[in-house]
Amino acid sequence: MSRVDRASGASIPHPPSIDRMANWPALALLIERVGRPMVVETLRAWAEAKRGAPDVADLDACARWCGERLAGLAQPSQRRVFNLTGTVLHTNLGRALLAEEAIEAAVAAMRSPTTLEYDLSDAGRGERDDHIAPWLCRLTGAEAATAVNNNAGAVLLALNALAAGREVIVSRGELIEIGGAFRIPDIMARAGCRLVEVGTTNRTHLRDYANAIGPDTAAIMKVHPSNYAVQGFTKSVSAAELVPLARAKGLPVIEDLGSGTLVDLETWGLPHEPTAREAIVAGIDVVTFSGDKLLGGPQAGLLVGRRNLIERIAKNPMKRALRLDKVRLAALEATLRLYADPERLARRLPTIRALARSEMEIQAQAERVLPKLAAVLGAEWKAGLKPVRGQIGSGALPVDLLPSVALAVTGRSLDKLASAFRRLPIPVIGRIEDDTLLFDLRTLDDEAAFVAQLPELISSRPRASSSLMNMSAQDARGPKT
Ligand SMILES: *Cc1c(COP(=O)(O)O)cnc(C)c1O
Repeated sequence: MSRVDRASGASIPHPPSIDRMANWPALALLIERVGRPMVVETLRAWAEAKRGAPDVADLDACARWCGERLAGLAQPSQRRVFNLTGTVLHTNLGRALLAEEAIEAAVAAMRSPTTLEYDLSDAGRGERDDHIAPWLCRLTGAEAATAVNNNAGAVLLALNALAAGREVIVSRGELIEIGGAFRIPDIMARAGCRLVEVGTTNRTHLRDYANAIGPDTAAIMKVHPSNYAVQGFTKSVSAAELVPLARAKGLPVIEDLGSGTLVDLETWGLPHEPTAREAIVAGIDVVTFSGDKLLGGPQAGLLVGRRNLIERIAKNPMKRALRLDKVRLAALEATLRLYADPERLARRLPTIRALARSEMEIQAQAERVLPKLAAVLGAEWKAGLKPVRGQIGSGALPVDLLPSVALAVTGRSLDKLASAFRRLPIPVIGRIEDDTLLFDLRTLDDEAAFVAQLPELISSRPRASSSLMNMSAQDARGPKT
């Protein structure tokens, strides 16, 4: 049986034995999991590695070899992990976990057609922003709102819509870089604006802004310096000071809040982080913030502010290029609905739940988990508990650290042990600090699953390959399918 090229109808020449080999019962399960083309491709690689016609006597060895080669395909590339790094909103680990309400809404939107841009009352066209704008206005006090792919996109869009080809004034103390790829000066340039820097790194005064305003000025921008703090001899200009100046000159003030939040974190004994409402009350004309940081929703960039400006922003062609899909809009709407009753947040929203956990609660959990860990570690390592300080992450509150408790492992070759934790069925990510491997338990939600897989640490052979290897060597020898 040889394959036929669809376009030309001609047979594709290849060693005929490969197709026959793919019919071996030993490979049937592998074919079921990854599909015939992948197995045939792997068999070819095997034949090539063997340099010649493969021998049927090698069947078992061949099946094992193929199983190992294809092992990576047995599980998705993006896998669930335990984030025990101590950083609650870890950008590399996907930031906020969604509330069940948001997950259900997203799944429902994935399954069915929806009224994404459809108005049921008159069968006319609706606006996708209509699903979230009323909630955002209600929660921030803004006149209007819109949403895009992420906050970097929101900043790019706001600048392009309101200031393309003209100047935007920013304090030197706020020319920040976030996570490498997002730098305010670069975004400014890509938005087609000319950056006018004022003040110095540590001190900027109102008069610095006033002196910089000229005929080409289109806006003043404030950026929440979310991932660092300047301490000591410092001065920055608050929104309350800046807004009257901008008003007098007829200029809009745009503020990138970064993480931003819709509720006062002090409710849960956490340090204050600026809320979108505070910025609106202070008179900021357009406020941007992320959906998947403190807000605890899906990735999104939210823009709230004055109606005429938000309308200009929403009409910009770039908005179309940065728009949100129905799945994330559904999740975002469900998340915002939870905020209608702040009492529910600490129970329903995983981000707030993790941030609000008390040290006592974490300590109690740590005491439950420690003996289970100690029991599997053996003599090479020593496990204990350690008071640690974690972070909110994703730029929020860079200096204030969250008191927590960590499982602390000491001993030789901690790298090796850390890597064994990463090879568990649900990889566990911690951090090594002062020759100690730390697992901060503030974010351990599924304690049962964590504990259940600990015994596998001892048999720390590479997990990725084992399932398929076993399958090809054992299951595949079962009855023909
Ligand atoms: C995180 C952050 C951004 C980028 O937001 P994304 O949603 O990741 O695109 C921009 N500005 C500030 C101040 C931030 O903290």
